[in-house]
Amino acid sequence: MRLDKYLSLCGFGTRSEVKQLIKTGLVTVDGIKRPANYHVDGEVHVDGELVVYEAYRYYMIHKPKGYITAKKDMSQPTVASLIEDEVSFVGRLDKDTEGLLLATNDGLLIHRLTNPKYKVEKTYYVELSKPFKDDDIKIVESGFKTKKTTFLPAKLSMITPTSINLTIIEGQHHQVKRMMAYFGLEVLYLKRISFGNLVLDPQLKLGDYRKLSVEEVNMLKMQVFE
Ligand code: URA
Repeated sequence: MRLDKYLSLCGFGTRSEVKQLIKTGLVTVDGIKRPANYHVDGEVHVDGELVVYEAYRYYMIHKPKGYITAKKDMSQPTVASLIEDEVSFVGRLDKDTEGLLLATNDGLLIHRLTNPKYKVEKTYYVELSKPFKDDDIKIVESGFKTKKTTFLPAKLSMITPTSINLTIIEGQHHQVKRMMAYFGLEVLYLKRISFGNLVLDPQLKLGDYRKLSVEEVNMLKMQVFE
């Protein structure tokens, strides 16, 4: 791969921007300054820092309220503006939902993680307008139908009478809010705290993101690839 393309894919800007960067003399391949059309055959350094191209990138974002899960929007802030990489998002969180959002350019993994067939559990911490009735836990656990939809069996644990953890394997539009609406309850606060076997990193501040470690990526893949 050409040096300018390599640097561009590593996030150093457009082809013309990286050509300018190469002209500054800060870019070396195995310690030697090379032109933009040089075919990368060794270690690339920019200003002394090793730059490694990763074809697939995986991130965890701590989504704040106020951002829609989209790459672009004319009028509303998007989660794409929170992350400096060209990636897609694993499922959607509503504008007013916070919490764990995964992002990657690995389309096959996204497809599997969001397909209910693979039964990947997503857990939400939910604050409600009124107490959730203990007796209704059975209904959630066995799955239920509304006029418009069927909700597959889910897990619910009470934290206080008006706060619960809800674990679902689907990702229907506004699913948690619609499930709670069935019981006459309004969701006042919603946060995704885990996705499959990944838990939201408690060190990650609202609006921040970080790369997943190799172990974390493997843990995610283990659930959906044999
Ligand atoms: N369920 C919802 O209602 N909203 C979300 O953002 C996620 C799950």
